[in-house]
Amino acid sequence: MRRGLDSLVRGARIDAVEIRRESCVRLLPGGAAEFAAEVGGLRLSRLARRGKFLWAELAELEGDDAPVLALSAHLGMSGQFRIHTDVPDAHPHCRARLTLADPTLTLDFLDQRTFGYLHVEPLVPTPDGGAGGAGTPLPLLPASVAHIGRDALDPVLDAVAAARALRRGSRGIKQVLLDQTVVSGIGNIYADEALWLARVHPERPAHAVTAAQARDLLAATREVMGRALGQGGTSFDALYVNVNGESGYFSRSLEAYGRAGEPCSRCGAPLRRETIGGRSTHWCPRCQRRWSARRSGPRS
Ligand SMILES: [Zn+2]
Repeated sequence: MRRGLDSLVRGARIDAVEIRRESCVRLLPGGAAEFAAEVGGLRLSRLARRGKFLWAELAELEGDDAPVLALSAHLGMSGQFRIHTDVPDAHPHCRARLTLADPTLTLDFLDQRTFGYLHVEPLVPTPDGGAGGAGTPLPLLPASVAHIGRDALDPVLDAVAAARALRRGSRGIKQVLLDQTVVSGIGNIYADEALWLARVHPERPAHAVTAAQARDLLAATREVMGRALGQGGTSFDALYVNVNGESGYFSRSLEAYGRAGEPCSRCGAPLRRETIGGRSTHWCPRCQRRWSARRSGPRS
């Protein structure tokens, strides 16, 4: 979605803003009026992404590309952007409409389940001094994203430090993967796929994950997400679509997620599914052994 937006809206001026559902800009104390006043008249510069957070650097109309603010977005469960070259009737799930000029476009934010949001906020320096995320060379990111770890696919990610951080604490490793502060971009589906690939049980306590497993897991995450990105993402229910309304194809390549009862493609054992920490979790009981403190002995 970032790539699609960047190629279509970069450089365009925000001429008008119509917030069709106030909760769409719920992070702003001044709501829709504040959002419109802040972004109106600014130019959309680079589109950047870190994990599940997407933002456009906003620049003044005249002058260089030095951004003055970020228009950030989180897609939640069902958010999507649609771009039109005309001004069609708004879709029933359209929460916000931006009218753009140079080029003239209509940019709609659709969100059926309304967990997503749009926000406008200052850019702050990245804690590690590296580029904010994919799509920008600037060491800046929106303030609300400052605590989010680097994306699993981010070349600036310090893989050694991240593998070490994954092994801290007593939470189950899947929970750590989903937490977004060590490494970001990993959602429920990709977590199950990466754990299957690295042969690690989702409930293994982080501190019981070996250094080799942590490295494997990080590599598996990058492999799964890299493949998914190459196919335009994972679409499970027609809500995930790119900016042209097409869905990704990755759901056809899943090994664990959504395959409970089917044979593991590696060993043939029927895959298991359980709700763990409120999330549907899939794994192979043979390839991904459950960890037992007694069997493993005291931690040295
Ligand atoms: Zn297996």
